[in-house]
Amino acid sequence: MEPRHVGRGTDSYGGYRVRLAETLRAQGIRDLAFLKAFAETPRHLFVPEAVRHRAYEDAALPIGAGQTISRPFTQARYLEALRLTGREKVLEVGTGSGYETALLGALADQVFSVERVLTLAEAALHALRAAGVRNVSVLVGDGTLGWSAYAPYDTILVSAGGPEVPSPLLEQLAPGGRLLIPLGAKGAQALTLIQRTTDGVRRTSLGDARFVPLVGEHGFDA
Ligand code: SAH
Repeated sequence: MEPRHVGRGTDSYGGYRVRLAETLRAQGIRDLAFLKAFAETPRHLFVPEAVRHRAYEDAALPIGAGQTISRPFTQARYLEALRLTGREKVLEVGTGSGYETALLGALADQVFSVERVLTLAEAALHALRAAGVRNVSVLVGDGTLGWSAYAPYDTILVSAGGPEVPSPLLEQLAPGGRLLIPLGAKGAQALTLIQRTTDGVRRTSLGDARFVPLVGEHGFDA
């Protein structure tokens, strides 16, 4: 599978990006489409000016509004669990910086992303445009309600930790679809994979996770 929006490695950060992809490969990320997506997505456009010089470290960074962009290795592991083929319609809850949205855009067909903080959604949209990502739409609102206009989704990725699976997300998941969400208390969750099968819903725990709180009607109180 070829990632989309390829071939923009001409800026001065290109070498750092390739090195980031090599770091991920050394840590066990082997899928070529993934490594290409990391080697070609300009992470420096998605982080604030103040931390831009650290954009290609394999580290979490602050993005404003008390939120963080996750460590690339964690994002890669997270994305791997989705088993994307390039044909999926994806719902992302928690756009944040928009970096993971861009990676999803490279690895899936269409991405619909919901962010509750207006300033973050605006900055993410700006960065996505600057990065040349075209198959992504951003909505400002409560992502625990999903985005019903474009449902059902083959894949749903929740980038903030909630107390339970928001029921609208289950309703908007297509048969055979995969939903990944950190579940638990604020500050300590279990990354949980929900698969919709013909005879119901299967839950698998993929290990410990630490995400910012999912705040909304089917999440934590603000
Ligand atoms: N993957 C992102 C990181 C997201 S951090 C990145 O690469 O940058 C989690 C984001 O979820 C934060 O921006 C937070 O504002 C957002 N969020 C929390 N609750 C939400 C909700 N109910 N709906 C939409 N976004 C939410």
